[in-house]
Amino acid sequence: MARFSSLVKPASQELIHLQVLRTERLTPHWMRITLGDGEIGRFTPMGYDQWFRIFLPLGGDEGLERIPAKANRIFGYLKYLRIPDGMRPVMRNYTVRAYRTTGPSGGPEIDVDFVLHGTGPTAGPASRWADAAAPGESVVIIDEGLGFNPERGTDRVVLVADETGAPAVAGICASLPETATGVALIEAPSAEDVLEFEGPTGIEVRWLVRDAVGEGAKPGALALDALQAAPPALTAASDTHFFIVGEQSLPTGARRQLVAQGVDKDRISFVGYWRVGAASPAPKSQRAADPAAAPTDGTAH
Ligand SMILES: Cc1cc2nc3c(=O)[nH]c(=O)nc-3n(C[C@H](O)[C@H](O)[C@H](O)COP(=O)(O)OP(=O)(O)OC[C@H]3O[C@@H](n4cnc5c(N)ncnc54)[C@H](O)[C@@H]3O)c2cc1C
Repeated sequence: MARFSSLVKPASQELIHLQVLRTERLTPHWMRITLGDGEIGRFTPMGYDQWFRIFLPLGGDEGLERIPAKANRIFGYLKYLRIPDGMRPVMRNYTVRAYRTTGPSGGPEIDVDFVLHGTGPTAGPASRWADAAAPGESVVIIDEGLGFNPERGTDRVVLVADETGAPAVAGICASLPETATGVALIEAPSAEDVLEFEGPTGIEVRWLVRDAVGEGAKPGALALDALQAAPPALTAASDTHFFIVGEQSLPTGARRQLVAQGVDKDRISFVGYWRVGAASPAPKSQRAADPAAAPTDGTAH
């Protein structure tokens, strides 16, 4: 749950009930789910890497009706936990890949790109849900705002991500001024999973394909290597804003490296989006009981 607070808060954090409008299998590891209808009019797009909590109806729609207000805050979350097992919706974190004021549905639409990270029982519930989602299904979201704070700089950026951060990097590139310069280092599980996106011409986008280096490459390792191999001029400029997200080892390793090189900590926005071998972040209430689940990410605690 609230593993980090957003750097830029949304205008409202109400529960917003939406429906799946369309699904599209983009590549072997990407499923695009388009959300809209319902209370979409209450969603305020902010651009950049705007992200949200999504509640998935794995126990049926009744569970969605029982989500308490502020389920993303500790007291609301404790009430959410009182929804009986089997009915309680699964809560996960996802990014607005794109927002349209008027889409093919005739109203506002949000695209969400889900990484499909397995199909069997070892895959997470969100990945499994996305794989099988159908138009008409209901979900609930809570807006969480931005992790990329434009006030930290938009002229010169270094954006580093594994595939889970690719929607955030694409959203940031779509929101940057046309004059922005820099580089985006993004991992993809396979060459087929490379998804082109629009951005300023001065941003060099470099895709790093994991299966090209063999089976078993750890997500994030290629991106970290690429950052380490980057020319010093890229990281030395004092006005560069770094945004690093993905599997936990990527942001923590990259931040350590950048700070050792003398980069000002205020110039580094970084968040662990997921962790190998661990289900999505535990809420503070659970962390209190389980010190092993303490937060290790850090745009802003
Ligand atoms: C701010 C924020 C924005 C995010 N935006 C996106 C987004 O737009 N698209 C997106 O796909 N993800 C995004 N993520 C990451 C996503 O929330 C996690 O990958 C989440 O764990 C997926 O939930 P799950 O139910 O599928 O798996 P979980 O139940 O959380 O985990 C089950 C198992 O799957 C493993 N696992 C989880 N994710 C992956 C993965 N990607 N690859 C391989 N193994 C994995 C875990 O290590 C665990 O062993 C975002 C995370 C954050 C914090």
